[in-house]
Amino acid sequence: MINYPIEQIRADFPILGETVRNKPLVYLDNAASCQKPQAVIDSIVHTYSHEYANIHRGVHTLSVKATDRFEAAREKVRGFINAGNAKEIIFVRGATEAINLIAQSYGKSQLCAGDEIVISAMEHHANIVPWQMLCQQIGSVLKVAPMNQKGELIFEEFENLLGEKTKLVAIAHMSNALGTINPVEKIIAAAHAKNIPVLLDGAQAIPHMPVDVQALDCDFYVFSGHKLYGPSGTGVLYGKQALLEAMPPYQGGGDMIRTVTFEKTTYAGLPHKFEAGTPAIAEIIGLGAAIDYVTAIGMDAIAAYEAELLAYATEHAEQIKGMNIVGQAAEKGGILSFTLDHIHPHDIGTMLDSVGVAVRAGHHCAMPVMDFYGVPATARASFAMYNTREEIDILMQGIKSLIEVFG
Ligand code: PMP
Repeated sequence: MINYPIEQIRADFPILGETVRNKPLVYLDNAASCQKPQAVIDSIVHTYSHEYANIHRGVHTLSVKATDRFEAAREKVRGFINAGNAKEIIFVRGATEAINLIAQSYGKSQLCAGDEIVISAMEHHANIVPWQMLCQQIGSVLKVAPMNQKGELIFEEFENLLGEKTKLVAIAHMSNALGTINPVEKIIAAAHAKNIPVLLDGAQAIPHMPVDVQALDCDFYVFSGHKLYGPSGTGVLYGKQALLEAMPPYQGGGDMIRTVTFEKTTYAGLPHKFEAGTPAIAEIIGLGAAIDYVTAIGMDAIAAYEAELLAYATEHAEQIKGMNIVGQAAEKGGILSFTLDHIHPHDIGTMLDSVGVAVRAGHHCAMPVMDFYGVPATARASFAMYNTREEIDILMQGIKSLIEVFG
């Protein structure tokens, strides 16, 4: 194993000391949401205890303080993904809201009937349904790039879909159902060669690897704070400044305006144009604390550690007769989706819970992926920076016992 401060990291997450059904909690549902380090919890308590007021509108000391902290969090996000400018960081409620914002603002203003949006076969519903809604509203067309049995994008077929009418590529950086890491550099190069902008859904990728939006040259990048060890109700939309400038506001209200009369309203500049209403102030400041936390450990170190965990889990899973791994891409993040012969995934989830192991069972908001593999659901163990080989041993032992009793 690489040198990695796992004991310290685990000690930083109070919930990892919980027991479930009298067993130590083994939390392997990180793709759904990650747990929070004490630093994030402390940040929220501190804000509400000492520095809370509404932001941007007040001249009083607390409001100025809260505004400074909120804008400092924006700067932390900017640095974390290496955006060129803090104006390019829009705070939203999560990846879902970010994609809906792009669909309704960019989509409605830049696309016409017959224009095409290209997604992939492994998308989360959050990167399917907003485009279907847009297509219904304006008559644009959704195209789906297929994947192979391993759960890898078939790149040639993706490329063939890029045509005169393609106005946007929207694709997962990493799949939540399969763990596949898409070849985003190649995808962006192919799309840009035809002047097509690219939106990356980074909801899964962001906690697992370094992301540099300028090096990637993606046009939009979205993610949720709660999967990055931060509070729920926080999310980020990164967009290139020129694109964001050209887009109309998504929602109207306070904070996003410059002047309002009953006859006419003028809008604020970036990023406030897209931030109508009071945001999740303490939570976004808490997201800044989460970014400080992972940055101190290092995203490269986290990625290397999790790659070892996945390799260890995969090696053991492959040895279990009756256990089928769903999604075996060559480039893969820490997600092990699986089925067991003769045992329904929901029963797997329930029975693993009885030994303290939290996995998710279901369609993982990716029903088309389930249809592709001809299964109603899978069980999914998903790893985070605080998981250990010992926890994977407990998972595998639980699975073996299940197969022995019910398989
Ligand atoms: N995209 C992907 C790949 C995801 O995994 C998720 C969350 N499961 C989302 C989008 C939506 O994120 P949220 O529910 O936090 O808005």
